[in-house]
Amino acid sequence: MLKADELVKYYGRRRALDGFTLTVAPGEIVGLIGHNGAGKTTFVEIVTGLVRPDAGRIRIGTHDALRSGRTARRLLGVAPQETALYGSVSARENLRLLAGLAGLRGRRRDAEITAVLEELHLTAVADRAVGALSGGQRRRVQAATAMVGSPPLLLLDEPTAGADPHTRSALLAAVRARAEAGAAVVYTTHYLPELVDLDATLALARAGRVVARGTQRELTRDLPGELRVTFADPAEPELRTPTVDPGADLAALLAEGRTPASVDVRRPGLDDLYQRLEATADERQPERHDAAA
Ligand code: ATP
Repeated sequence: MLKADELVKYYGRRRALDGFTLTVAPGEIVGLIGHNGAGKTTFVEIVTGLVRPDAGRIRIGTHDALRSGRTARRLLGVAPQETALYGSVSARENLRLLAGLAGLRGRRRDAEITAVLEELHLTAVADRAVGALSGGQRRRVQAATAMVGSPPLLLLDEPTAGADPHTRSALLAAVRARAEAGAAVVYTTHYLPELVDLDATLALARAGRVVARGTQRELTRDLPGELRVTFADPAEPELRTPTVDPGADLAALLAEGRTPASVDVRRPGLDDLYQRLEATADERQPERHDAAA
């Protein structure tokens, strides 16, 4: 549904995207993660048409999004990182305006808006001016603008930033439902557990490229977890050690004649993956990100 190939984008001499390639199939949720400045928002803005790339190609459905942008973007629902809503009118009116631009009219439009407002737990505040809503409510209205009309491609840029647990779970349920109905979803977040909840495919961005893609299990396979052992002898301190093979490490302790009282193995998770990503990003040469003078 979305195929971005080798996107390059410069801001002055700074290379924000450096061969960014990503595909998303119908029904797939791709969790786009990476450290601050990795290029996630620039990618979303290029697909949205707000920013023009210096090189690369984008297909949305069967359309070349850089040549026939208007037609391609009819297939797209976007929730940008900064909310972009009319503050003086109600959530329902904001949705009417956007649904109108997407070609929805009359009863069908109103029915869809009512359903999306309900889905995102916004019915009670739907007729209040958006400017008078809380930050979390505004973010949900923004997500609603992306979802109304059920576009086949959704781009959600940190839709749950600052959301309380109630807001977050309503949003996640709505995203899951859209994917189950066949929408392709790009979802950027710094809250990694959300991506596990969504059963998302992960795409790791670093320095303007997607450097790894896969399920959480695939991407964390070679990362160490942690083995925690307490011992029967109270004089022996608790052992906490990184491990890629807890069984072998435990067998080695037993072979040394030590008697564990309790054993706990923490498997590597997304946070470990993220930390490694940050660590390798820190090791990069600063010039790596900039164009030659
Ligand atoms: P975050 O997680 O903080 O939202 P991100 O992965 O979305 O980060 P981008 O916002 O895409 O990263 O930024 C990528 C790079 O491009 C950064 O080095 C950033 O400073 C630079 N950049 C982004 N937008 C602009 C702009 N309008 N003008 C100049 N530089 C920009």
